[in-house]
Amino acid sequence: MGERIAIIGGGIVGIALARALLLRGLGEVTVFEKEERLAAHQTGRNSGVVHAGLYYQPGTLKARLCAAGRIAIRDYCAEKGLPYRELGKLVVAVDASELPALAEIERRATANGVPDLARLDGLDRIRAIEPHAAGVAAVHSPRTAAVDYTAITEAMAQDVRSLGGSIRTGQEVVGLQIDRGTVRVRTPAGEQVFDRLIACAGLQSDLVARLVGADPSPKILPFRGEYWALAAARTDLVRGMIYPVPDPRFPFLGVHFTRGVHNDVHVGPNAVPALAREGYSWLAVSPRDTWQSLRWPGAGALARQHWRMGLDEISGSLVKPLYYRKARRFIPELQMSDLATKTAAGVRAQAWGRDGTLLDDFAVDQVGPVTLLRNAPSPAATSSMAIAEHVIEHYVLARMPE
Ligand SMILES: Cc1cc2nc3c(=O)[nH]c(=O)nc-3n(C[C@H](O)[C@H](O)[C@H](O)COP(=O)(O)OP(=O)(O)OC[C@H]3O[C@@H](n4cnc5c(N)ncnc54)[C@H](O)[C@@H]3O)c2cc1C
Repeated sequence: MGERIAIIGGGIVGIALARALLLRGLGEVTVFEKEERLAAHQTGRNSGVVHAGLYYQPGTLKARLCAAGRIAIRDYCAEKGLPYRELGKLVVAVDASELPALAEIERRATANGVPDLARLDGLDRIRAIEPHAAGVAAVHSPRTAAVDYTAITEAMAQDVRSLGGSIRTGQEVVGLQIDRGTVRVRTPAGEQVFDRLIACAGLQSDLVARLVGADPSPKILPFRGEYWALAAARTDLVRGMIYPVPDPRFPFLGVHFTRGVHNDVHVGPNAVPALAREGYSWLAVSPRDTWQSLRWPGAGALARQHWRMGLDEISGSLVKPLYYRKARRFIPELQMSDLATKTAAGVRAQAWGRDGTLLDDFAVDQVGPVTLLRNAPSPAATSSMAIAEHVIEHYVLARMPE
């Protein structure tokens, strides 16, 4: 029958992992999710993009698992009849100062084997793809796609149940105790013993790590991403996805235009420090979370390095014309009134080291029978099925008793 395996987290990574473990017949699987529904946090509050792997340093987990994950998600959507729209992405250099960074994206994308990549020089070639965009050059990735990650998670959860797995929503794991190679899991409903636990706890992943005495570093620094929806009458300004050339010093991609599977067009997300782990607006404040971030040893170094960008992002969040001005660089015809409504924000779980650095790659730790996913920011939704295989190969099978 295999091991008794517990998973913390009913986001796309936890559910993809539960499904993969069951498909391989590796044990009895129980998923604990603290919310009443699945995909309540990052998975259900993101841009819905299946990344093709343009940005990531070649050879990293992000680069490898994004490429494999894109194909896995594409095939899964085809198998289940879920929407998967290859709308394509343009990364646009608006002026000549951005050309070196665009060339670096092109180099990485080529090294990562991004399919059907094209370099477009000059406005005419850009406009052949996106008729309203402005810029001097771009990289086009036609295989970048739009999906509904909540629908994908729910379909995978259905597979988990059909394969005999158990998904317990509304059950927060509040205590973990390692005891002679097993792990005792405590929720308000009671205690249960497992042979192995894998935590995919997103915004809470450092707190869960502390429950088993793991190193508190990296800590999670919550970064909110806010979106505006384009007015329905103006969604024809964008055919697919239009992205800026990202700032290489920062792990986020910059405000972009994204057409979703349901034909809505979003502008965003920005990246502002959230004042609570699940702080979806400026009004959501957790004094404990904010205090823990402020007194983290790396806080000073991070503030010194990124204060200018931080102030810029915060002012854009509070003052609509500043957000609009950024967006209009890519589509000069955009009017302020086209940014019609603010829509649901998301909060990214970004791992942050003691020295103030923001961890770039996916990161996994092992403490006895407990595997901890410590950094799974974007593109972890794209990569989810490949992350599941990676965890199984390198942590579950590597430590499976004969
Ligand atoms: C604004 C934004 C835009 C993004 N855009 C994209 C994109 O376009 N493409 C892409 O690939 N990625 C994108 N991402 C990243 C992507 O959403 C995440 O990397 C991915 O969803 C991570 O999945 P997860 O399952 O690890 O985390 P989550 O979805 O956050 O799930 C973790 C779950 O664990 C649960 N949990 C935590 N602690 C406990 C506990 N103690 N007991 C029980 N349950 C617990 C939480 O309630 C939560 O449901 C974006 C993220 C954000 C925030």
